[in-house]
Amino acid sequence: MSAVPVATNDIRRLLVANRGEIAVRIIKACRSLGIEAIAAVSEADHESAAARMADGAVLIGPGPAAQSYLCPEKLIAAALDTGCDAIHPGYGFLSERAHFVRACMAANLVFVGPSPEAIEAMGEKITAVQLAEKARVPRVPGSAALESAGAAKEFAQKVGLPILIKASAGGGGRGMRVVHDLAQIEASFNAATSEAQSAFGDSAVYAEKYIKRARHIEIQIMADAHGNFVHLGERECSTQRRYQKLIEEAPSPSLNEETRLKLGTYALELARSVSYQGAGTVEFIMDEEAGEFYFLEMNTRIQVEHPITEMITGLDLVAEQIRVACGLPLSFTQEDVALKGHAIECRINAENPLKGFIPSPGTISVWEQPEFDGLRIDTHCSAGSRIPPFYDSLIAKVIVHDVNRERAIEKMLRALSELKIQGPATTTDFHRGVLSHDDFRAARVTTRWVEETFIPQWHASEKERDAIQ
Ligand code: ADP
Repeated sequence: MSAVPVATNDIRRLLVANRGEIAVRIIKACRSLGIEAIAAVSEADHESAAARMADGAVLIGPGPAAQSYLCPEKLIAAALDTGCDAIHPGYGFLSERAHFVRACMAANLVFVGPSPEAIEAMGEKITAVQLAEKARVPRVPGSAALESAGAAKEFAQKVGLPILIKASAGGGGRGMRVVHDLAQIEASFNAATSEAQSAFGDSAVYAEKYIKRARHIEIQIMADAHGNFVHLGERECSTQRRYQKLIEEAPSPSLNEETRLKLGTYALELARSVSYQGAGTVEFIMDEEAGEFYFLEMNTRIQVEHPITEMITGLDLVAEQIRVACGLPLSFTQEDVALKGHAIECRINAENPLKGFIPSPGTISVWEQPEFDGLRIDTHCSAGSRIPPFYDSLIAKVIVHDVNRERAIEKMLRALSELKIQGPATTTDFHRGVLSHDDFRAARVTTRWVEETFIPQWHASEKERDAIQ
């Protein structure tokens, strides 16, 4: 077990092994618990908001993540040198690396997250879908590990085209190939295996039936060392581009109470099967045509989009993760969880959506953010912040909460129009366009909608506007 049961006060100082908005978020949770936070920072982040806010900062290496945030030994040395007794990995970087958890345990540091065994079981998608099947959670009709293009072809002939070839170690929407035509199978299989090898160091791939009209629905769960397992409702994350989430909302406009309960039960069955502890997310894909839900994968960390669940439940999931890592029981039961109102999150990236979402690093010259009831902005940026070229381009998460979906959409539109960022290009106007679109308002969005419907229309209207001006 990573979260060695210890007395409450045993975490006195915690190393934040991450950067950006999530580092700031973790520092805030530490404050609320009376725990000191030390920010681990790369040379590119030594003046970051996390470095300024934390009780101390420690340099872990040069800007590129491979030489800093992705180095277990540097983070462990940083924790020990600064007298920390725990490490919070945030999301991405080392958050789902079992060997890092084991290294923390060997150094007597509490890892804020599940056991290395649970991470391993869920980290490889081929193993995860097998566990889901065992826990009787339905999975997308899929294959075992594919040894050859011939095996992929056999699978395609069995379930029918299109199919999706996926990297077992995949993440962030990478290592996936849709195959529409049998003639493409060999090339797609080879491309997927070599991409999987170079991106994840593991060439294993498998295939699933490709769901054409899909919605992404995920269940947030929390579990502790005392056998308590609670589900906290769902988030809908169907507004995606290239299989990456852009806008998330909770609850999902396409779920009824019965399905919510069914998915929550599935998620907990799966979590129990690996003696899960901490915060986790079980992802499902909904086949709109068939009206069926299937297991996709489990993420064994806090998610980027956790704030919308916090808004509708009133809970602090990051503080709860730390409490669980201290060996404390969850501070709430399933009966205490009441979902209230509607929350939406827009991911503001420093990217140019009119130029293929190309990253736009640089210095922020103007940053003005609104403040009103039901609005939360999770960010590490302000005027003068420098966005280094080395990392993910997320610069802020704009999160709103209101009594229903319509009001939440209106509130988000107001927040986005009052958010003023100059310097790098951002996705703010893109989000305004999505939220104003009839399809979004009517909740008719599937995972391919942004690319197939919205972007072509939006580009055409932007061009028209430019021509008039
Ligand atoms: P990753 O770990 O890379 O995020 P996931 O398995 O979570 O990969 O899938 C990411 C996204 O890819 C999903 O939200 C969905 O849009 C799409 N996707 C995954 N599997 C399928 C499938 N079988 N059919 C259609 N779309 C899929």
